[in-house]
Amino acid sequence: MFQVNENYAKLPGSYLFATIGRKVKAYQEAHPEKKIIRLGIGDVTQPLAPAIVTAMQEAAGEMGQAETFHGYPDYEGFAFLREAIVAGDYRARGVDIGMDEIFVNDGAKCDSADLGDIFSLRNKVAVCDPVYPVYVDSNALVGRSGDWLNDEGRWSNLIYMPCTAENGFAPEFPQEQPDMIYLCFPNNPTGATVTKDRLQEWVDYARKIGAVIIYDAAYEAYISEPDVPHTIYECEGAKECAIEMRSFSKNAGFTGVRLGFTVVPRELKCGDVSLNQLWLKHQEIKFNGVSYVIQKAGAAVYSPEGRAQTQEQVAYYMNNARVIREGLSAAGYTVSGGVNAPYIWLRTPKGMSSWEFFDYLLETANVVGTPGSGFGPHGEGYLRLTAFGSYENTLAAIERIKKL
Ligand SMILES: *Cc1c(COP(=O)(O)O)cnc(C)c1O
Repeated sequence: MFQVNENYAKLPGSYLFATIGRKVKAYQEAHPEKKIIRLGIGDVTQPLAPAIVTAMQEAAGEMGQAETFHGYPDYEGFAFLREAIVAGDYRARGVDIGMDEIFVNDGAKCDSADLGDIFSLRNKVAVCDPVYPVYVDSNALVGRSGDWLNDEGRWSNLIYMPCTAENGFAPEFPQEQPDMIYLCFPNNPTGATVTKDRLQEWVDYARKIGAVIIYDAAYEAYISEPDVPHTIYECEGAKECAIEMRSFSKNAGFTGVRLGFTVVPRELKCGDVSLNQLWLKHQEIKFNGVSYVIQKAGAAVYSPEGRAQTQEQVAYYMNNARVIREGLSAAGYTVSGGVNAPYIWLRTPKGMSSWEFFDYLLETANVVGTPGSGFGPHGEGYLRLTAFGSYENTLAAIERIKKL
């Protein structure tokens, strides 16, 4: 008789976005005349930039000609895209990353979950709290998170690093020693980030204790302040202890196109074992590459037109972030984020819980946010608003909240 992976059964049935969807649907059905504005989504809304669409059309044409047709792509990604990445994201910042250290993928989510495959199940994992749920749940599926403790709302074997107003939503070194540390800056959900000096301290700490940092830089394009690192490899020694994940989803609107990459440096070793070689093996066994058309679209992001057009989109979202941040501050709310990230982390007023405030905003302002408690125990008492809506809707939502 077969058995299933019992770790799947351990996952708590919270389904944050399903619950939100159900509540919004029920409210809309009861009040069909109300115009609900959704500032809860973590998905972009602007269409693909023209330079990207043109590149995809040209690539599709090439696929229709015998001379320029492409079958299975390389596991690591086409050289033209990896060259563009090395030059545009690393060399341009004075960081030396080789083409053979770049692994192109179909988005950062899969790799953020799959990277665990090359690490021992005995490793102790540290995550921020609140956190992007994929890091936690993917470790839970292989048993590394331990058991779900329902009363405490946490996993028994994870190290949680609280990100609170007191520490500026940036984690401190945990008391218990981790082997794997997941960091995401600029952060989803809090919108917080760290300075280069602080990230250097994390790199030094990881090297000292022999831990690996899995660094999610999906929101790099949103950085506006000068002392915020764009890549962890700006820090000295990071190539010996850190893997970096990037995505085209938020900087170029590829959430529906699907493209990202992971950097696994050659210097990153466990004894004699090269993690770069382990990850190559992982990709050879479990992955068959990304479509030529999509990789051409990715390369277009690095062209002068593509850059200008995608930067304009990021600026559009960041203007929304400013409207939310300034509007809510003026209305007396305590807000953070929204400066180097498209997320605003809003303290709930009058001691309301995250879900109480969610219901209140839905019912009185017809605005949808994401309850902070859905991202971890220390997200309780917060709500996440995103800047990914239209300017008009963002402005209207904030006007409504101000009038409450
Ligand atoms: C959106 C997001 C990603 C990107 O995911 P894709 O699979 O590339 O779309 C990665 N990490 C975080 C924290 C995100 O919010």
